[in-house]
Amino acid sequence: MLNLAPGEREQLQLERLQATLNRAYRNVPFHRNRQNEVARRNGKDPSIIERVADIAVLPFMERSHLGEHYPYGLFAVPLKDIVRIHTAPGTTRHPTVTGYTRQDLRIWREMVGRAFTAAGIGSEDILQIDLDPGLANWGRDYKDGAEALDVAVIPNTPLSPNKHLMVLRDYKTSAMVTTPSRAVQLTELMFRAEINPTALNLKRLILVGEPAAQETRRHLERRLHVETWHHFGLSEVPGPAIAYECQAHQGLHINEDHFFPEIVNPDTGDVLPPGETGELVLTTLTTRAFPLIRFRTGERARFIHEPCGCGTPSLRMEWFEQRTDDILNINGVKVHQSQINRQIEATLSFVPKYRSGVLEAEGEKKHLGISIAMDNRLFSDEIKVLEKRIRLLESDLSENLGVPVRVKLVEAALL
Ligand SMILES: [Zn+2]
Repeated sequence: MLNLAPGEREQLQLERLQATLNRAYRNVPFHRNRQNEVARRNGKDPSIIERVADIAVLPFMERSHLGEHYPYGLFAVPLKDIVRIHTAPGTTRHPTVTGYTRQDLRIWREMVGRAFTAAGIGSEDILQIDLDPGLANWGRDYKDGAEALDVAVIPNTPLSPNKHLMVLRDYKTSAMVTTPSRAVQLTELMFRAEINPTALNLKRLILVGEPAAQETRRHLERRLHVETWHHFGLSEVPGPAIAYECQAHQGLHINEDHFFPEIVNPDTGDVLPPGETGELVLTTLTTRAFPLIRFRTGERARFIHEPCGCGTPSLRMEWFEQRTDDILNINGVKVHQSQINRQIEATLSFVPKYRSGVLEAEGEKKHLGISIAMDNRLFSDEIKVLEKRIRLLESDLSENLGVPVRVKLVEAALL
């Protein structure tokens, strides 16, 4: 599909979009109500739209909708057709639960395979997957996609960084899927252990989960003697490699046969003119179990319409570090302020004044740093008990958010 001419591409997208809207209307009350509302307002049924761009009449789907319809309220197929169920931390009280049909999994494998092929990865390679526990679902998708290409895969396993390094060297890993933060951490560890990059067989590094700054990529390329590729995906739904870099490294090719992308003004929701930077909105075109219709990703991006050096005519995007929402991206796992609040309240029974942010110590991967103001309600405790409660909060947060967390107490005046 990626080689289709623009006219053919639009026709394919339109047919798939109509099928998606129809299926969502028939099977999901949430989508039915929203489409009925649009029909009432515009006097026109959205499932009979004539151009893909007409999708702009439909309302957005927000992250909060995913939690509100926990667990299966947004599934568009009967549960008997679901062959896999994934859970990811959500932005509401509930996690995000997504389902896949057999066909969904096959399409996903193909998309991941397409991205690997674009990075020159094939049956000669030994691929190591090293992702945070919060991205375990992606670990499975990457494993399946690589196996379908006959790549030898070392699946994602919760090993210590030192063990990952040992595997990287001893197993002659030639390609690796990891987050930018973990790659930096691994590089530092390697140099501390005095392992020369020439001792490695590593040639390709696939960076996923979060946008990598240019200087981070250059740093990794220089120190590890590798070429880096960037993949974009959604950690909640439905998975990795929605967009990927080719060997020209001129932005990320979007899988337009499976997604219809839009860039909107994050404040007004208006679709922006070509080339402008705004919020990425995605609509799934082939997903059967869990269709997303105009899903606001919170990612800041820009479309690149000029032809790519690789000759593939698909639309590309530039993906920026800064987001359009207040979600924190920590090693590819997204954390919303309300989740932090809820967990603090659950563990401490109240919410003291606190500040949170993404922190990155030299040579370590990113973590969620939380500074809690000294509070009388905490100080009724003995120091030993207090220390225990803080460590408990740290482990509760870490377990429920799926990211490393460090909590410290600070003078209230410092917040
Ligand atoms: Zn290209």
